[in-house]
Amino acid sequence: MKEIKVLSVTSEIYPLIKTGGLADVAGALPAALASEGVRMRSLVPGYPAVISALTTATSIVRFADLFGGPARLLAGKSGDLDILALDAPHLYNRPGNPYLQRDGTDWPDNAQRFAALSFVAGWLGQGQVGRWRPDIVHAHDWQAALAPLYMKFGEKAHAKSVLTVHNLAFQGRFAAGLMQELQIPPSAFTVQGVEYYGDISFLKGGLQSADHITTVSPTYATEILSPAMGMGLDGVLNQRARDLSGILNGLDGVAWDTATDPYLPVRYKSNAVQNARRRNRQALQERLGLRPDPDAMVLGVISRLSEQKGLDLLLEILPQLLAENIQLALLGAGDAILQQGFARAAAAYPSAIGCAFNYDEPLAHLIQGGADAFLVPSRFEPCGLTQLAALRYGAVPIVSRVGGLADTIIDANPVALAAGVATGIQFGPTEAAPLMAAIRRAVTLWRDPKIWRKIQANGMATDVSWKRSAHLYAKLYADLINN
Ligand code: ADP
Repeated sequence: MKEIKVLSVTSEIYPLIKTGGLADVAGALPAALASEGVRMRSLVPGYPAVISALTTATSIVRFADLFGGPARLLAGKSGDLDILALDAPHLYNRPGNPYLQRDGTDWPDNAQRFAALSFVAGWLGQGQVGRWRPDIVHAHDWQAALAPLYMKFGEKAHAKSVLTVHNLAFQGRFAAGLMQELQIPPSAFTVQGVEYYGDISFLKGGLQSADHITTVSPTYATEILSPAMGMGLDGVLNQRARDLSGILNGLDGVAWDTATDPYLPVRYKSNAVQNARRRNRQALQERLGLRPDPDAMVLGVISRLSEQKGLDLLLEILPQLLAENIQLALLGAGDAILQQGFARAAAAYPSAIGCAFNYDEPLAHLIQGGADAFLVPSRFEPCGLTQLAALRYGAVPIVSRVGGLADTIIDANPVALAAGVATGIQFGPTEAAPLMAAIRRAVTLWRDPKIWRKIQANGMATDVSWKRSAHLYAKLYADLINN
């Protein structure tokens, strides 16, 4: 079979630059797809962290003026990743978060910054740069969503395109007055193109232009067709429903491996879980200043603090958790009000509530390796990665029944328990009372070690790797090329 050449276009890629799950997916896909006969190169903005991570770099094309300044495209390697870095200092040479200024507001030129990324992707997709021409341009989220549009409205023959929606809540909406500056053809400013209530919507432009659309779980692919979950794009998505499918994310098996994890005080394999996890649990309690109480169930959370993640509900039920002798180990950053709420609770009950409000990879691993249960109470969740890591590490997931959470966890209901297949606990709707009921159910199960260990073992045996999904992406690419 002929090798399929794919250009992945992404605003983040692990381990170079990451704010969330998108980076994990973009970082893991190239290796996962290699064994499927797919060669993936990743086009990413040349943020300082990206440029400095390149071990080799050759300039393959220069732009005298790319949306306001000179730029060049660097082809290089970083580890096993094959990177095309868009080195445009006027757009990307800034420290910190890729999307936000220090004060937490968007960079004022985000339209130019991510249109430039998509514009260059469109060029590559039309075979205009050097000799390398991809068969498929695979764009991720709104930041890359204009790539399919630039190709569709361009004049040259072009690669097939896939747009993956990792989170429909972020759409890239900007003033219509930018059309010319962003070099979007005027003919694209229609309902069938990039126009959205009189503005430009990058994501809508991509949804209308891509040959195929995927989301990161089958359930989310269905949910977003409804007005309740469609974030204002359900109409467009329904029109494109024939070309929309869900492919679950996998978990990076190298970064998340209990046997080799450098951040775990005690590493473990599936045959020696309990002792190792008990000691990791002690280390976690110590790290967050929690009481070293073996009778308290430790509940872990690793999350962006945002409305989406439902953590306001957790705040609401904290007094009830304390009454049940549950300890909370929370790692999260984001919304200031939520952060204040948890900080206040931690100050009032330091021996039961431990929080860290930064980005902390080592602590994330310690929570997965030491917490008894792991909570993801999202209002919507396109796929979710933390519950996959929790499964693999043996922290039993408690999740709301939405999106990828619904697709990846088998609820410990009586039938699943009797059949011996449960891997966690699900609840719905995403409200405080069902959440508390789910946690109570978890505590009851946790107090019965035999049952709990079975649920934990089932989770650890669940295949959360990229294998199946990589195969589905490869098949999708092949189908697009052959049609
Ligand atoms: P989302 O992309 O919506 O934020 P996901 O569950 O898909 O949520 O991915 C989140 C990723 O970011 C996971 O790999 C998780 O471990 C990581 N993560 C989130 N917050 C933090 C943090 N404060 N410190 C370290 N890792 C974090």
